Amino acid sequence: MRIDYHMHFEYGSYDVDWVQGFFDHAGKRGIDEIGISEHTHGFIEFKDLYYDELVLNETVVGQFQRKWLTKNKFRYSLKDYLQFMKLLKEKGYAVKTGIEVCNFQNQERVKAILAEYQFDYVIGSIHFLKGWGYDFADIKFVWDQYKLQDMYEWYTAEVEALCAAGVYDILGHPFNIRLFKNFPEFDVQPYLERVAAAVSQAGMAIDINTGTLYRYPVQEISPYPDFMKTARRYDLPIILSSDAHRPEDCGRHIDMAIEYAKGFGYDELLVFTNRKAVAHKIT
Ligand SMILES: [Zn+2]
Ligand SMILES: [Zn+2]
Repeated sequence: MRIDYHMHFEYGSYDVDWVQGFFDHAGKRGIDEIGISEHTHGFIEFKDLYYDELVLNETVVGQFQRKWLTKNKFRYSLKDYLQFMKLLKEKGYAVKTGIEVCNFQNQERVKAILAEYQFDYVIGSIHFLKGWGYDFADIKFVWDQYKLQDMYEWYTAEVEALCAAGVYDILGHPFNIRLFKNFPEFDVQPYLERVAAAVSQAGMAIDINTGTLYRYPVQEISPYPDFMKTARRYDLPIILSSDAHRPEDCGRHIDMAIEYAKGFGYDELLVFTNRKAVAHKIT
């Protein structure tokens, strides 16, 4: 079984013409099943959470993020999305309905929003540290304003809070904080252990994501090898993904992700249906 469980339709719209390309590329790359994981910032239900929790003041970061929130965000309701996914399934597409939720502080609110809808799986991803979107190239100067070890501490604490919320099936792209090549010189192993322990305790899986390989300067699969070794030791299950935002990226480098996972001793991945996971051999 070969899957790609983390991708976004958001550069287009919910129509079969746009999404067909994703399925075409999945087919060409031998992917048996894809899963869509729309960002929560695509949905009106989550709008208040972003306005409550992001830095939106008069600083450069605040101004950038304010503008970001007005670009192509909150266009649909969750109902629109789920209806479209139901239509695709009815048409016979091999597809699962996921969602990628940002690391909000108000997990109770997230829980209440999600409780009304049936997803196949829910990904929780750390995208913000203290209200700052650390993967935005336009405001990456913030990386130089803090000690990297403090950022690792914040990142780890965010993972711990997210896992403890009991809302998520999968941790998205673990340790993608390496994306702009801010590499630590201190001992990171305690952070890797804490993240692996939190994921394990929550019964979650990790997302082996090639997006950081072809979309960011670091050009490596997430999670990076040191966390893969730790994850394997904790026996954390995996999914594979491309983090595609465009049809032609669906399934991109999944063959590499498979070799990568196998290199750490993985021979199974998880397939999700209605929040239930079943392990399948990676082929
Ligand atoms: Zn993400
Ligand atoms: Zn994503």
